[in-house]
Order: sequence, then C-alpha cells, then structure tokens
Amino acid sequence: LPSFDPRDPLGLDDLLTDEDLAVRDTVRRWATDRVLPHIADWYERGELPDIRELARELGSLGALGMQLTGYGCAGASAVQYGLACLELEAADSGIRSLVSVQGSLAMYAIHRFGSEEQKRQWLPGMAAGEIIGCFGLTEPDHGSDPAGMRTHAKRDGDDWVLTGRKMWITNGSVAGVAVVWAQTDDGIRGFVVPTDRPGFSAPEIRHKWSLRASVTSELVLDEVRLPADAVLPEVTGLRGPLSCLSHARYGIVWGSMGAARASFESALDYARTREQFGKPIGGFQLTQAKLADMAVELHKGILLAHHLGRRMDAGKLRPEQVSFGKLNNVREAIEICRTARTILGANGISLEYPVMRHATNLESVLTYEGTVEMHQLVLGKALTGLDAFR
Ligand code: FAD
Repeated sequence: LPSFDPRDPLGLDDLLTDEDLAVRDTVRRWATDRVLPHIADWYERGELPDIRELARELGSLGALGMQLTGYGCAGASAVQYGLACLELEAADSGIRSLVSVQGSLAMYAIHRFGSEEQKRQWLPGMAAGEIIGCFGLTEPDHGSDPAGMRTHAKRDGDDWVLTGRKMWITNGSVAGVAVVWAQTDDGIRGFVVPTDRPGFSAPEIRHKWSLRASVTSELVLDEVRLPADAVLPEVTGLRGPLSCLSHARYGIVWGSMGAARASFESALDYARTREQFGKPIGGFQLTQAKLADMAVELHKGILLAHHLGRRMDAGKLRPEQVSFGKLNNVREAIEICRTARTILGANGISLEYPVMRHATNLESVLTYEGTVEMHQLVLGKALTGLDAFR
C-alpha cells in the first residue's frame, strides 16, 4: 500500500494527470514566490500595490481566462482552472478574486456573449493581463436580487447612454474595461465600457476588514455615452450575468479549499511543535479531534470540487450543482479557518500566521457570488420544486 500522506490523506493526487500536476505546480510556485512574502504587508496596508505587474505575470502564466479558447487564452480544462484557483487562494482570496473577476466574469462575458469585434478588441489584452477587467452587477440597493437594478441604458440616436451606480465591484478602480449590466427597453443587457469614457468614475471602497489585498470599488456612470456596438449582442435578461456568475462560483468551489488548506497546514505544523503541559498540543485528543475533522472536511471539499470539475469538462455541470459546491465548500472552509485559529492560540490572531487573514477573507467569499442563503434557496427550489425566493 502507498504510505499515508498527511497532506493528501485520500490520495486525491491520483485523480490528476501529469498536465494537471504541472499546472498546479506552476501556479503554486508563482504564488509562493510572488505573493506569500508580501501578503501580510499588503493586507495590513489594505492595498495591492503591484496589481498591474501581478496581472501581467498571471497573464504570462496563462491564468487569465484560463478555460477560454482562442484570443490568447490558455484553453485549459475545468479541473486545471480549479487547481489554479485553489493554489491562488491558498496564498490569498484577494489574488484569486482578481483572477476570477478577470477570467470568469469580465472575459467570460465577452467571450460568451460578445461580438467577434469585441472579442478581438478586448480578450487578447485581458488574457495577457495588460488590460484589467471588472464586472458590475451589484448596486447599492440591489444585491441578491439584481433583477430590479436601477442602472439603465437609453438609446440616443445610434448611441447608448448609461446612467447608474454599481457597488462592491472587484478591480473597479484599476480596470481598463468594465462589463456593466443595465436595464434597457428590451430587458437587462451587458455593456462593454472602456473606463476612460467621460462620465465614468470608480472610487475605491476603503475600510474593509476582509479581502484587504483586493481592490473593491463603486462604479459611477453619469450619462456615459457609448457607441451602438458597445452592447453584448448575444444575450438579454439576467441569464447573461447569472451564467458568468455560475462560472466564477465554480472557481470558488476550488479556491475556498485553498484558503482552508493553508489554514489547516498552518495549524498542523503548529500543533506538532507548540508544547504545553510538557508535550506538543497535537498530542492532546481534543486537538487531534479538531485536526481530524478539519482534514475530513478539507479533502471531502476537494473531492467535491474535482467531481464538479469533471462534470464541467463533460458539459454536464448544472447551476444547482455549482450552488451545492459553493454552499458546502465556503461554509466548511470558514469553519476550518476558525478551528485552525483556535489551535494557534494567541498567535492565531496575528498576521504572522495566515489563518485569521484567510478567515476574514472568507467572510466576503461567503457573501459574494451568491450568499449562503441564496444557494440554500437554489437547492431548496431544486429539491422541492417550490420557489422560496420571494
Ligand atoms: P443583500 O442582498 O442585501 O443580502 C443581505 C442578507 O439578506 C444576506 O444574508 C442575504 O442572504 C439575505 N437575503 C436576501 N434575500 C433573501 C431571501 N429571499 N431569503 C433569505 N435571505 C435573504 N458584485 C459585483 O457585481 N461585482 C463584483 O466584482 C463584486 N465584488 C465583491 C467584492 C466584495 C469584497 C464583496 C463583499 C462583494 C462583492 N460584490 C460584487 C457584491 C456581492 O455579490 C453582493 O454583496 C452579494 O450579492 C450580496 O448582496 P448584498 O450585499 O446587497 O446583500
């Protein structure tokens, strides 16, 4: 029998191909070299000072729009994209958010619903990390229920004129292009908005206690005039943004397990070396119970992510299954981080260790891309056939 590996107790690496392992190792090495040495400092300062350089490096790794094909994108499998999300979030959820929003929201929207000209104009620069994208759906008064959004686009001759406000938009202030969802006379449509247009501004949201190494902004659209071809031609209605979100949520199913893995490993190392009452705290049954339960949830979560990845690669992944994964994995990840924090005692609250940073990051991950409650309602509806959203 192969020996027991505390870092892979179920032998899940056996599910991966050599190519999968190569993708994972490349992203892990990049995150270890480029993010881990600085992340505590960035987090404390509440900044991501190297964001443009990081985006370009992520572009050269092929991590931006990784699953998309053509236009400079890597055309990777869903499992490989998931592995990349896990490794990035093991460094910090803010870095994974940068990649999710760029690839799964902004680029995905253009790739899936854009015209050939829009794809040619934007996707190669975005895949290279030269142009950062953001995705504006949420508004101050419309979060979980975006159907009633107030941002609207009106026709003026051939032009469109966009007015409204978007809130909590990742990458907003650093974006060169924003995919903005707005009401029109025909229903909700997506618009590709170059952020240098008159009337567009993106003030950064400060004073966050979560995702501090991530840029979060408001988007203000004050009669932003756009040409007729700024609209995404291939979709009308909420189906557009919701299918982008489903793609990004899939990445979070994996990513959240990265934050959990980093916290678990930190707690495991600590439990083996920290001594109290004359022996390592990992030798006490109560600590072992915590470690065993954390390991079970962590690797069950990775197994679930892998299963969903294979379904996605086979073209069989349903949105309800993505909700299943996001609900379980983010909820369990936050629990693992909180338990890890207790094992580290007072050190658990320090930025010298990653666990409190991951735990507070996951508070955002629990809320964005559909709150826990929204995913419970999605599953509740799928299970009962009864809609309890309103
Ligand atoms: P609300 O919708 O007001 O919900 C508040 C509470 O009420 C939640 O617990 C919710 O589950 C509950 N609730 C609401 N309706 C029901 C119901 N019917 N039944 C039971 N409970 C209910 N948005 C973007 O568009 N683009 C981004 O890039 C982006 N990035 C983000 C980054 C960060 C750091 C954060 C924190 C948010 C980001 N968001 C982004 C916004 C995010 O998607 C929303 O915060 C989320 O959808 C929830 O909306 P809300 O905050 O308005 O909460």
